Amino acid sequence: MLTNHEELVRVENLTKHFSLGGSYFTKNKETIRAVEDLSFSVYKGETLGIVGESGCGKSTTGRLLLRLMEATSGSVFFEGDNILDLSKEELRAKRQDFQMIFQDPYASLNPRMTVEELISEPLRTYKVKDRKDRLLKLVDAVGIPKDYLTRYPHEFSGGQRQRIGIARSLALNPKFIVADEPVAALDVSIQAQIINLMKDLQDEFDLTYLFIAHDLSVIEYISDRIAVMYLGSIVELTTSDRLYENPLHPYTQALISAIPIPDPSFLREKIKLNGDIPSPMNPPAGCKFHTRCPLAKDICKQIVPQLIEVEPEHFVACHIVEESLI
Ligand code: SF4
Repeated sequence: MLTNHEELVRVENLTKHFSLGGSYFTKNKETIRAVEDLSFSVYKGETLGIVGESGCGKSTTGRLLLRLMEATSGSVFFEGDNILDLSKEELRAKRQDFQMIFQDPYASLNPRMTVEELISEPLRTYKVKDRKDRLLKLVDAVGIPKDYLTRYPHEFSGGQRQRIGIARSLALNPKFIVADEPVAALDVSIQAQIINLMKDLQDEFDLTYLFIAHDLSVIEYISDRIAVMYLGSIVELTTSDRLYENPLHPYTQALISAIPIPDPSFLREKIKLNGDIPSPMNPPAGCKFHTRCPLAKDICKQIVPQLIEVEPEHFVACHIVEESLI
């Protein structure tokens, strides 16, 4: 159970809109509202999971937090500094503290570099001393044999490549790691190995994770707290235990009802959602979930529900949940 509530990252009103199309003659630009008005904290030493369907804005959120893309508005405070306001030089220095683990380790590793070169590259870039010692410590920590240092990425399996990617992301001793679907491309048997490795490394290297996934079983296993996203907004945020024991938002309830249960004697009613996730180019007014919500009322079509704390450490954005508190 998470006991430390010291903030490492604080996100305030983070928004990212992408403009699409339009020309000198038509000027008809469309806007994709990828992330809208997100506010949340990541506590030191925790794993905050972000879960949601494809296109809900979870990967964009991860990239915005590391400033791998520029936000439209909002703030991301990392140890007190708003990283969205940092100059190029300041950001470069700060980058040592936050790193990313990518979904596809093969695409993120330069195929012409050996394992040694791949893991040493950030060490050389930041002129780290005792590079060889650090390299050997890293490969040992992620379970890559030292004899493999001269091999190339194509000589490894998907799981081993992800281990190399993880070693590379740890090279500069970061404090905060955004892992964007780090096991989604791996076989189920390998997924557990990589997740357990990430848990061990979290203790060994004193890491804080933002773990992005679409798979609720994976996210439950690794996360201390979980934020559920829908169409660019957080609809529920609470501890992992509470989310699975007492989900309050209708969208979370539907997601959890769809998780297969290994015990055939236990039947859970699956909540069926209407239709597909709407386009982020034209999100519904009011509650963005109202077009699919089995409990939607008139107010839901007009007024955006705010993310409110309905019990300690349990935040929900839903009019019905809010009304039940009155
Ligand atoms: Fe459903 Fe209304 Fe709650 Fe949105 S606000 S989740 S539409 S009940």
